[in-house]
Amino acid sequence: MESIILANLIGGRLRAPESGAYLDVFEPATGKVYARCPDSDARDVEAAVAAAEHAAPAWAALPAGERATHLHRLAEAVEARLDGLAREESRDTGKPVKLARSVDIPRAVANLRFFAEAVTQWSSEAHADAHALNYTLRLPLGVAGCISPWNLPLYLFTWKIAPALAAGNTVVAKPSEITPFTAFRLSELAVECGFPPGVLNIVHGSGPKVGQAIVGHPKIKAVSFTGSTRTGASIAETAARQFKKVSLEMGGKNPAIVFADADLSDASLDTLVRSGFSNQGEICLCGSRLLIESAIYEDFKRRYLERVKALRMGDPADESSDLGALVSKPHFEKVMGCIARAREEGGKVLCGGDAVKVPGRCEGGWFAAPTVIEGLPQQCATNREEIFGPVVTLIPFDSEDEAVAIANGTDYGLAASLWTRDLARAHRVAARIEFGIVWVNCWMLRDLRTPFGGVKHSGMGREGGVEALRFFTEPRNICIAQREATT
Ligand code: NAD
Repeated sequence: MESIILANLIGGRLRAPESGAYLDVFEPATGKVYARCPDSDARDVEAAVAAAEHAAPAWAALPAGERATHLHRLAEAVEARLDGLAREESRDTGKPVKLARSVDIPRAVANLRFFAEAVTQWSSEAHADAHALNYTLRLPLGVAGCISPWNLPLYLFTWKIAPALAAGNTVVAKPSEITPFTAFRLSELAVECGFPPGVLNIVHGSGPKVGQAIVGHPKIKAVSFTGSTRTGASIAETAARQFKKVSLEMGGKNPAIVFADADLSDASLDTLVRSGFSNQGEICLCGSRLLIESAIYEDFKRRYLERVKALRMGDPADESSDLGALVSKPHFEKVMGCIARAREEGGKVLCGGDAVKVPGRCEGGWFAAPTVIEGLPQQCATNREEIFGPVVTLIPFDSEDEAVAIANGTDYGLAASLWTRDLARAHRVAARIEFGIVWVNCWMLRDLRTPFGGVKHSGMGREGGVEALRFFTEPRNICIAQREATT
């Protein structure tokens, strides 16, 4: 099969990289190369920044409603191609097509629409007293940089570019080189929809070449990044030297805490299983540590395992698959290495634990069975470090204090879920655990107006709603004296 050749979007045109070089893009379900993505470098970033700078004044001067119209047009174009994009996202990432169709692509549409609407409803502050009227303008920054990861490609890409554009910035964006396909499709759609040239630029390539060039570019005023904590640290370092604004959304080691008084209906159990294994566990919000109050541990474990064992792993293009392939060979090897380490640490594998061969077209794919492990001490690497795969550890606890201590016992602090019927307990525990997002009796229930992000090594800054619009703007306060001779 011929590989599909992707291109950068620079200044409103689809362009080959200056280097003429390309990176292989693999289909995780088959292990085969199916596309080639530009292996761009600083020269392409330079051209994209120049185009973005050129386009910035006119874009910033457009009334918010007109910028919103452009975003709405793009949203419509994505929605009109929902099914095709879902198939492409599934092929690129290994995720089940039904997940891409029900979550990834609809959420990309929602992101574009949400920020189109949000910016037309946004207002700034005014502070008046006897002496003066202060009002605050929220001005676009100029050119913004957006860098996104491979796990929810179009979903997270649009989550960044939509608020940046809505707020009046032009953008130089880089999707993950591991899953560049739907961002490439978005560039085609942006051209089709008549997006003004240079407003949205998409440069494909590796982190060290393209990502670093974006972060280090003096004309890029802010960088919004989602990815690993390690990359986030390097971005923070580079940005600090230029006093550049950064928003970092990074890794997680999230707990789901199940108290004995929880309503463990079938629906709750299904949500808990989803919270561990959705997208093969490759969601930063997945609950990979399942803390269970000892009084219900055995019964819960039995019901939970029944469900995990019933998950259907298979060809992601197959409508019946619940789990697909891991995103890449290195990531597959990392996850298998983490399972081996868990065994060495004394963990007992209750289900899964192995690679899976999916016969037929997917024989060469990177499939790992949904894995549940118990018997590990809280302080071991398995229970502290992010795996980002279909691996959940079960941890019993005896008291609320112990649950809080275990939950807080990692460097990460992204998201937690609490399962209890006791509302007072929910409030108490939510206040004591160190996480940016706490769900009670639910998981991944998202309202795009809420602040999204983590604490500790999981994040710096918040995305979502007004937080994102504030990040992508600079406040300028204007103070007008109310009376003469006021000092
Ligand atoms: P990654 O850090 O390897 O890459 C993320 C992006 O950064 C990619 O586009 C990559 O090319 C780029 N990059 C790499 N090195 C760079 C550098 N030196 N300078 C600038 N850019 C660089 O992460 P990944 O493996 O793609 O994604 C998985 C990670 O993302 C996991 O840790 C996961 O928890 C995290 N994640 C977090 C959230 C969140 O909202 N907190 C959401 C999704 C994923």
